[in-house]
Amino acid sequence: MQQQSTRPTFRGDGQDTISGKNFLRSVRHQIRALNLTGTDEVNAFEDYLVEGTPCEEWWEGLSATDKATWDNFAKLFLARWPSVTPTQKTTADKIRALCAHAVALTEDDLGTKVMLNGVEVEAHTAWAVTALRLAAEAGKASSDEYLVLAEGALPRSIRRGLRGTTYTTWQDLTNAVSKVDPMIIKDAMEERQAREETIRAVSARLQPRTTTQPDELAAAFGRMSMGPAASQPRAAATPARPAPARPAAATAPVGAAPTPAGVARYVRPQAQGGATNRAGMRQPQQELTPAEKERLRGFIDSLPHHANDAQGVAAWEEQKRLWRMQYSDGIVRWDRPYPLQPGTAPVCTGECFKCGMNGHMSVDCPVRHDRTHWISRGESDWRHLCMGALGAFRKDTIAAVCWLEESENGEGSST
Ligand SMILES: [Zn+2]
Repeated sequence: MQQQSTRPTFRGDGQDTISGKNFLRSVRHQIRALNLTGTDEVNAFEDYLVEGTPCEEWWEGLSATDKATWDNFAKLFLARWPSVTPTQKTTADKIRALCAHAVALTEDDLGTKVMLNGVEVEAHTAWAVTALRLAAEAGKASSDEYLVLAEGALPRSIRRGLRGTTYTTWQDLTNAVSKVDPMIIKDAMEERQAREETIRAVSARLQPRTTTQPDELAAAFGRMSMGPAASQPRAAATPARPAPARPAAATAPVGAAPTPAGVARYVRPQAQGGATNRAGMRQPQQELTPAEKERLRGFIDSLPHHANDAQGVAAWEEQKRLWRMQYSDGIVRWDRPYPLQPGTAPVCTGECFKCGMNGHMSVDCPVRHDRTHWISRGESDWRHLCMGALGAFRKDTIAAVCWLEESENGEGSST
């Protein structure tokens, strides 16, 4: 027996980690094993006292009558150290806890191990066990309430693993999650590791650079891009981008395309010369150091700005896909060159942050009411960042790329 190491102690000064009632139960359990009776049984309690504590002081003040039987003694003890009812969690608290946990599992957690009740388990298993416990505490284990929260927030790999499984309660869902095919978890982990490795490799190659040659990154994107236009230099005059909703815009000469009456249409014409307008300047999100600005100056043309034809657009879509894969947080930063939409103006030319074209400021953007003509948020952020850090330093050295407004009768005029 190892009673020494498990001998319960109680001070009675409010600092104990055990309640009076539980202490008394433990003591009673051990004393019973001694087969004592009457006063002897009660007197065995003395062995559990700690010198100089309120409990010992109380014990010493008891009379012989007080210690005559265990029942009498126990009643006095519990009167002196009554049970304190712990604060009960409200139903709202329990539901809040369930909801917070429902959305807590991330793709990055998958494949990692966590400790649960002293055992090392897979993160998604731990999530399921805890989710079921919280659901049960909230009285929702057999309910579908709040289940939609978890369904929407579970990592994609888990959702893939749940495909074909029907579940209508927390019990079902958590059970299904803990049984997700281990291969799916393994795949998710390997994909993540590969992604992290690529990022590490690319940034490791970029780090030592002090000058402006991020060709590795450009090459990384260029290699993976489609079509032969991968390293096409930015032309002074870039033809219009062929957005799907904008037929004939790609190479249409001024005024050549017929326009339905009553509908103003914008296409991107051949540029004629130096830019004449500049966009409104905004502050950069974060002040870059001179060295960072110098590197950024090298980045701005590092990704191929693809030709404005079907192949170029496909290559651009691929660039965007790779960018999103590489920077899964989606945050546009100065050291993450962003693919530019074919047919738009180069960065740092005073271009509009809404449509990516020269010739006007965002507030006067001719297509400000037509989202189909806008560049993506990411591209807009990138242009904004470059302009904020470097200014429109080449607005006079690169030919402007402006919208061409086609009038209702089909006659175009360059803006
Ligand atoms: Zn614009």
